Parts: sequence; C-alpha cells; structure tokens
Amino acid sequence: MNPVFPHCFTPLDLGFVTLANRFMMGSMHTGLEETEDGFPRMAAFYAERAAGGAGLIVSGGVSPNRDGMLGLGAGERSFPDCHAEHRVITGAVHDHGGRILLQLLHAGRYAKHDHPVGPSVVRSPINRHAPRALGEDEVAQTVEDFAASALLAREAGYDGVEIMGSEGYLLSQFLCARTNLRTDRYGGEWNHRKRLAVDVVRRVRESVGEDWIIMFRISVLDLVEGGMTAAEVIDLARSVQAAGATLLDSGIGWHEAQVPTIMGLVPHAAFAFATRRVRDAVDIPIAACNRINDPATAEALIERGDADLVSMARPWLADAAFAAKARDGRAESINTCIACNQACLDKIFVGEEATCLVNPRAGRETLYDATAVSASRRIAVVGAGPAGLACATTLAERGHRVDLFETESRIGGQFNLARVIPGKEDYGETIRYFARRVDDLDNLSLYVGRRATMEDLSRGYDAVVLATGVTPREIDIPGIDHPMVMSYAELLGGRAAGARVAVIGAGGIGFDVCEFLTAPRHDGRAVEHYLESWSIDASPDSAGGLAEPRGEESSRTVYLLKRSSDRFGRTLGKSTGWALRGALQRRGVSMIAGVEYRRVDDAGIEISVNGEPRRLSVDNVVVCAGQESLRDLYEPLRANGTPTYLVGGAELAAELDARRAIEQGFTLAQRL
Ligand code: NAP
Ligand code: SF4
Repeated sequence: MNPVFPHCFTPLDLGFVTLANRFMMGSMHTGLEETEDGFPRMAAFYAERAAGGAGLIVSGGVSPNRDGMLGLGAGERSFPDCHAEHRVITGAVHDHGGRILLQLLHAGRYAKHDHPVGPSVVRSPINRHAPRALGEDEVAQTVEDFAASALLAREAGYDGVEIMGSEGYLLSQFLCARTNLRTDRYGGEWNHRKRLAVDVVRRVRESVGEDWIIMFRISVLDLVEGGMTAAEVIDLARSVQAAGATLLDSGIGWHEAQVPTIMGLVPHAAFAFATRRVRDAVDIPIAACNRINDPATAEALIERGDADLVSMARPWLADAAFAAKARDGRAESINTCIACNQACLDKIFVGEEATCLVNPRAGRETLYDATAVSASRRIAVVGAGPAGLACATTLAERGHRVDLFETESRIGGQFNLARVIPGKEDYGETIRYFARRVDDLDNLSLYVGRRATMEDLSRGYDAVVLATGVTPREIDIPGIDHPMVMSYAELLGGRAAGARVAVIGAGGIGFDVCEFLTAPRHDGRAVEHYLESWSIDASPDSAGGLAEPRGEESSRTVYLLKRSSDRFGRTLGKSTGWALRGALQRRGVSMIAGVEYRRVDDAGIEISVNGEPRRLSVDNVVVCAGQESLRDLYEPLRANGTPTYLVGGAELAAELDARRAIEQGFTLAQRL
C-alpha cells in the first residue's frame, strides 16, 4: 500500500484487466495529430507519460468518419483513414508499461470544416456554419462507423476506446432537445434522444467483444440552457452501463457554455459533486475531472468516494512523471499545471501545436532529449524568475556548473506577484517546483539576496545568462509622484489600496489588478462561491445545472483606463480572457477607453475621454503601464568579451509573458 496516497495507488480491477492506479491521463488534442511527423512524436509523448506512471491514457479525439472530423488542421484524418499508423503509438505505450484508449469523437455541429452535420439544423454559437441534419439512415450508419472504428482500434493495439459523449459534441447534441428537434426514432422524448449514445455503446461492445475497455464520457453537467437534468444524466449512465460500457469518464460543460470550467479561477475539484451523483447510481467505475492538478486532491476525492479514478489532461503536459513522483514520495517535485492555458489550449485554438508554459518540452520529446549531458562549463545565470530558473536548472541537469544570482531574498520573480491574484494561486506551485529542483542539483549554487556585480561575473565564467527581468514602466503625467499613486508591483507586494481606485493601463496586468481589487473573499468556501458567482445550480433539479444569473457585489469602485480605443481585453488569453472580462463587468468595473491622463492631485485623477474632461475621485491610482527591460550588465559584459545571453523580460519587455520567458530560458540551456 502506498503510504501517502493509498487510495490513488490501489489497483482498479476491471474484470479482464487491472489498472495499476487511479491516475488517468485524460484526452487532449495536442496538434501533433495534424503534423507531418506527428505519429513518432505522439508515440514519444504518450510513452513518457506511460513511463511516468499514468494508470490509463486516453488519446486525443479522432473521428469515426469524415463528417465528424473537428477540422482543426488540414492534415486531420478520420480514424479509418489512418488506423494503421496508430500502431507506433500503442507499441510505444505498451513498451513502457502503459495502457491507452483511443478517443472516438464525432464533432457534429462543432466541426470547423465546411459541411458539419448534426441532429437538426441548429447552428452552434461557436461555429459560423449551420449543420446539415443527418438522415435517419445516416444516423444508423454513424453507429456502425463507431463500431467499425473501435474494431480497427483494437487491431491497432489500443486497450479500448473512449466514446466522447459530452462537451456538446454529436452525442450531446442528440441527447438535448436544445439541439435535437427531430421527430424520428432519434428525437423527441428522452428515450429517443438517448438512443444514439446507447446504440453506439451497444454496437461497439458487439463489435469488439467482452474483454476490451469501453469508456463512455458522460456529460455530468452540461452548463447550457436546456441541458440534461440530473435524472437524465443518471438514466443515461445506467443505460450505457447496460449497453456494455466498462467505465465512465466525466465531462463538464459544452464548449459553448458561458461558464469557465478549467481556468485557474475554478476551484480544485469543483465538479466532484456532479460525478458523485452518477457514481452513486451505477455499478461501473467513474473518473472525475477538471481542475484536479495535485495528488492530494485526487486522493481526497477517491477516499471520499466521489470518484474511482481521476482524469487529468493538462497536468500530464506539465509533468510526464506526475504519478511516478506521487508514488515514490516525491510529490513536492511535481511540476504543477497552473491552468493558464497559454501554451496549450490557446495554441490549439489558433491551429498551433500545444506545449506547456511550465514544461516547454511537452510535445517536443523527440526534439529535446531529457537525458542529454553535455561537456561541463561554468555558467552564471543572473535572475531567479521563471526565465532564469528554467535556464539554470536545465543547464545544471545537462551537466554544467551553474551559479544562480537573485537580488531578492526569494526566487520566483514576477510569479511572486502573480500568485496573489485570485485564480492564480497555483503560480506559487511553480516556485515550489523550481525550489525543489534547485535543491536537488548539487552542481547548481543559488545566491539569493545578492545583486550580481561585474566583479562577480568576471570570475572565469564560460558564459553569463542575464535573466534580470523587468521593472514597471514609470509614466510621466503631472502629479504622478503623489502619495496616492503606486505601481502594480507595490499593490501586489502588499501596499493597501482604498475603496475607490483608478487603474492606468488595461493589459494583462491591469486586468489582473482589477481582479485583485474586486474579487470577493470566499473565506474557505471557494467551491460554493464559484458556483454562486457563475450561476451553477448544484441541485439535481435544474436542466443543464444552471441557475438564474445574479449580479455580484464588489466592496470597491474601480476604473480601468486606457488610451487606445480598441476593445478591452484584446490581449488576454483566447480561452480565458472572456471570463475575466465578464467577471469584472459583473462587479461593475468601469472600463474607459480613449483616455488622456491630465493630472493626479488630492482629489483623484483628472482625465479626458475622447476630448471630454472628466474627474475620477479616487483614493489610489495604480499604474499598470507595461514594463521596461532590466539589463544594465549586458553591454559591460559584452565589452569585456564574456559570452552573454539575454532571456525573458531582460531580452524584450514588450508582450513579455511567462510562456516566452520559460521557453527562452529552457531552449537557451539546450543550446549552451
Ligand atoms: P501590456 O499588456 O503591454 O499593457 C500595458 C498597458 O499599459 C497597455 O494597455 C497600454 O495601454 C498602457 N500603457 C503603455 N504605455 C503607457 C504609458 N506610457 N502611459 C499610460 N499607459 C500606458 O503590459 P502588462 O499589462 O504589463 O502585461 C505584461 C505582459 O504580461 C503582457 O504580455 C501580458 O499579455 C502578460 N500578462 C497576461 C495576463 C493575462 O493574459 N491574463 C496577465 C498578466 C500579464 P494604452 O496604450 O491603451 O494606454
Ligand atoms: Fe497547464 Fe498552462 Fe501548461 Fe496548459 S500551458 S498544461 S494550462 S501550465
């Protein structure tokens, strides 16, 4: 029995096969599915996760026929077109002791190609094409396509399939009257609407035989108007169990739902209640999912009986050895997913490959060999923010002798500011992870509270990396030195603000500062507070799990100001910006564009808006006007002939984000 996580490491006996533990790597599209050398890269990607202890892996979604393709990339193919190539993936996973399911996903009206299909002609708000309604014979053929693809998956070496029955894809679309207006045997009353999902499971079981895993991903909470009621969800779960499903996986929210379900502002394991409801009604195991990113949360979930497995997708991007570290008493060394979406989902949305902000090697396992050790050189890294930490630790792991200098008394740089923003608390986990990695490396010496001087850096280093970061930009308006003015760094560093605040600058940090100033304290009721804020009805009575929307109070009056006149939040993450903007609007933050700053005085700040003078009587002004690079040492080092490199904000402050900073630090360390 595992001494720390006994429930997570209790094997799960499925009758004909036993899973080694309860940690499942959930399905995630990585973009490798569409790249030319995608199969060997996916094989290496999944094999590392199998070696890293995943009890069960689910592949990215592949369509059982051409109609159902997501159409994310030009190279995408339906499963029957490419099943033979999948052997490279299944072989690699099995060689590393893992088990892998193929996810069969029919996108239905979410397909981004020109000819989507669906139960009825009801356009999705996230697709410009309305679907064509499938004929009754085509629906029956779709069932056969699932069954045929499952059989091909078995031949390709998969240990089973996951049938995607949630997130608003085709099977969800048939299940709900909001998208299913049919009057034939697949529409109308509930028993007809559920027919497609149940038939798919039944036919897949008939096709593949008894001793093979069929997991059905069930939408335990649709989070859209007219979604399934809890009674329908439970009935569906029982029906797919009777039709031959081995396991259930939870799905939360249709993709078009106006509720954030995986962002950092969603508390850990917030949806366990919905999985629990289904678990109590069926006899087959069920996985919980969404915002579970650490083994302690997983252990508590399984111990309480909320779920039998825990499905995590992004946490396996962040750390390929997640379960092995938990198993071996090294949970402190887990590189935790911080739910930023910046290098994974936001990339997929624009057709690029996914990687991970805190682990830039994810998806690039064949490009960067984790075990490569080069000749040992003496290298100084100046600055222990994200870029410097990524660089110094990677250099040391590659065999170099590294001295890491940090002016502050602690490591972490800008992440120390980010971690105090509500919803970004997990950024602190990245600092914990790097601290442990630094501790584990005998050839890396850390000097905190030490400003590196030219003298320090002239002591025979073969190279110097400047990761000295940024400083908040100071702006020049009359009265800017008034005591009511502070930088975002001062505010987030602990300086108190009054009840009325003007925020200058509406970039990522301006938005974060508004969140910091207005987010209500939840006093240990994080899940309840989140459910209330986003009008989620956790009772079994509502359709789709939605309650009547309510306004939200803020104890502060906040103005978010910018000079430009374009849309607010344009630079925020694609998958996260809408929710942050919506939360601030609900709390009454005034967003004012086209501002000219005139002066700050005892009465507040005087501005003009599109030429019209306006006075905002505020207690404080917080400046979030971007940053400037700190790299004073660069020219002197170059002048004395020291090979010197810049990474992160020191290299370029404009559009700096942690993704670029960590990636630059990591890739430079691979080259040196
Ligand atoms: P930013 O995104 O460049 O925004 C700076 C803001 O300051 C701009 O909106 C600009 O607006 C204003 N500004 C610039 N110069 C000014 C001046 N001289 N006087 C008055 N206003 C001025 O920078 P940031 O907010 O500091 O963010 C830094 C980086 O971190 C960005 O890349 C950002 O994307 C990233 N980040 C992202 C998030 C997120 O996505 N949630 C959160 C934090 C940070 P106007 O010119 O219109 O006035
Ligand atoms: Fe998690 Fe961010 Fe990495 Fe995506 S990019 S896996 S959200 S840490």
